[in-house]
Amino acid sequence: MKITSLTRELSLVRHPAFDMLIFFVTGRCNSRCRHCFYWRNLDAIHEGLSLQAIETIASTMPKFSTLLLSGGEPTLRADLPEIVEFFRRNNQIQSVSVPTNGLRSDSIVAIAKQISELDADLLVTFNVSIDGFAEVHDYIRGVPGGYDLAMKTLHALRQVASEYDNFRVLVNTVICADNYEQIIDFAEHIKSSRLVDGHFFEIVRGDPPEGSIKAVPPARLKAIYQKLVPLQETYLVSMGRRRRRGLLRIWRRISDVGNLINRYRHQWRVYSEGATWDFPCLAGRGIGVIDYNGQLRICELRDQFVDLSDYQYDFARAWDSEVIRKERVIARTHLCDCTHTCFIGLSARQNFKARFLKAPWLYLLYKIGKGW
Ligand code: SF4
Ligand code: SF4
Repeated sequence: MKITSLTRELSLVRHPAFDMLIFFVTGRCNSRCRHCFYWRNLDAIHEGLSLQAIETIASTMPKFSTLLLSGGEPTLRADLPEIVEFFRRNNQIQSVSVPTNGLRSDSIVAIAKQISELDADLLVTFNVSIDGFAEVHDYIRGVPGGYDLAMKTLHALRQVASEYDNFRVLVNTVICADNYEQIIDFAEHIKSSRLVDGHFFEIVRGDPPEGSIKAVPPARLKAIYQKLVPLQETYLVSMGRRRRRGLLRIWRRISDVGNLINRYRHQWRVYSEGATWDFPCLAGRGIGVIDYNGQLRICELRDQFVDLSDYQYDFARAWDSEVIRKERVIARTHLCDCTHTCFIGLSARQNFKARFLKAPWLYLLYKIGKGW
């Protein structure tokens, strides 16, 4: 970690600021997942925002660090590198993350290389979604043979990672009723394959087409989370090692692992007890969401939005609208606390107590063998 980025992190804790954009670049998708929270949008005819509209959005946004592209399947847009370039140039983003279902290996690899070539200082992460071993994955994702295609893409992206220092490849897994029995075995399998730099897990969220897919027994979920932490710790440590030195590296380890435990703890408490978070959600302040059709929201799970076209794609004006201001208050006052990993993670990172007291404390408890 550079001193400049440490300074920025400390300043964000004191003055939370816009730090992450989640941008659904397309509503199109070539999968039909049983757990998809975005499924109502997938048959839309809308092609996604034009490059011109996206450039205007980027030029009217503040600087921020993380661009998370989403969809639909983001790599169905061949102009993804141009979209990233707008945000790199206008907003000085430090990292871009692209989730993919991994079905079209050749075009995914081509796009991954083009984005990695934009700037050696831009950290580029491709997250291949794989939800379990072949039979379970294909059942959940609705594409026969999808597992083999995703694994082929994983191998190809590993090769990209060996060619570009700023590129890394992860697997994302959604925990749901169809796969919770095999999550730990699958996590160990992926780890032993040595194909990935990290493996992340998210409990199924939102309003999927099959409501029954959300029925994961809470006690099992807690046990899964607790077993996942040591598996993920080694990934986090090795990712930290690539970019940091000395004491900062030690602090980063405590912070990353402590935050991971805190995130799981929050997700489990919300999922099983309907609890509220220990800190306010920064949706509408630290994070914003833009849908493929130009609707601007504070998060993916809330349905109030403003249409950016009504503001000539001027993000700053839309972000200051009455609707967004009201939504910001709802998020801050715990009226809709949810299990969304990005929002819990970023809100905790920009909260002094969660970042500098709770995370180290949870790390210590974990190291002496006490759970949460
Ligand atoms: S790949 Fe993503 S967007 Fe497509 S159906 Fe699955 S969860 Fe939904
Ligand atoms: S708590 Fe969840 S649903 Fe509520 S604003 Fe934050 S991310 Fe959205």
